[in-house]
Amino acid sequence: MSAHLLDGKTLSQTIRSQLKERFAELAAQHGITPTLAILRVGDDSAAAGYARAIERTCTGVGAHFKPVVLPADSDQASVAAALDGLNNDATVHGIMILEPLPDTIDSNILVDRLNPAKDVDGVHPVNAGRLSAQRPPYFVPATPAGAIRMLEEAGVEFKGKEAVVIGRSDIVGKPMALLLLHRHCTVTLAHSRTHDLPAVARRADILCAAVGRPEMIKADWIKPGAIVVDFGTTYTDDGLKGDCDQAGVAAVAGMMTPVPGGTGPMTNVMLMQNLLEAYGGAVKR
Ligand code: NAP
Repeated sequence: MSAHLLDGKTLSQTIRSQLKERFAELAAQHGITPTLAILRVGDDSAAAGYARAIERTCTGVGAHFKPVVLPADSDQASVAAALDGLNNDATVHGIMILEPLPDTIDSNILVDRLNPAKDVDGVHPVNAGRLSAQRPPYFVPATPAGAIRMLEEAGVEFKGKEAVVIGRSDIVGKPMALLLLHRHCTVTLAHSRTHDLPAVARRADILCAAVGRPEMIKADWIKPGAIVVDFGTTYTDDGLKGDCDQAGVAAVAGMMTPVPGGTGPMTNVMLMQNLLEAYGGAVKR
């Protein structure tokens, strides 16, 4: 068997063109361009690279990108003041706080201060709680939202499926587990303390990996015909690697997301989808 590969690149391009049309319509109708602000502190290269990728995505759909970059020696109060400025700026519809922040900044305090109606990354506890309780409105973190969209487009039937999610971060694993639960999967959320992880993984009709350990998941962890979602993105000397041994897993799985070209390209377009929702909310107010 060789798994059907779910093409996140092509799907993300299709969604991007749909969003571009919608953004243009709304801007023409209301005379305001949807705007995503990012707040970054210091000169971390990963955060800077992520900011450039978000800027490209914004430009691609016709949204404004507003970067606010503070010096690395900024104190908590000045970062909070910059965030307050964005929270209160009616021309800003979405805000992302880019990590990593300097050690001197408490990111939890900042996230708590973020206006939940502009939290397009779904990191504020109000959005996380509303997602958990299925009480809209809320923003779903872009990465798991993109994966679910890929599975839905592929016609996956979720109801009653045994799903195993490996990794319990607030931004990928935990919300992915909730999204699967809300679609009536029976969900196991595994992590670094899970006993006999290969045996747990082998139970899965839908196996999702959000760990960040390249090629940790081998062919003998996979139930034949399973659907595998690989969120892992680790840059190695051999290039970009997912959490799965791609060739081995593809030989056993029925369907899987490749790395690269799977969940990665979907993330930023789903962020734009969230910006569109934030903008719609802002226009209604
Ligand atoms: P994270 O916050 O570091 O969380 C990693 C999770 O993996 C933790 O829950 C950890 O368990 C678990 N884990 C670590 N080692 C393990 C092991 N040996 N066995 C089982 N579980 C283990 O990472 P993240 O932010 O969720 O990101 C995960 C991966 O997704 C990374 O490669 C990241 O680059 C990628 N990612 C991709 C996208 C995308 O667009 N595709 C977006 C975001 C992240 P504990 O909780 O017990 O420590």
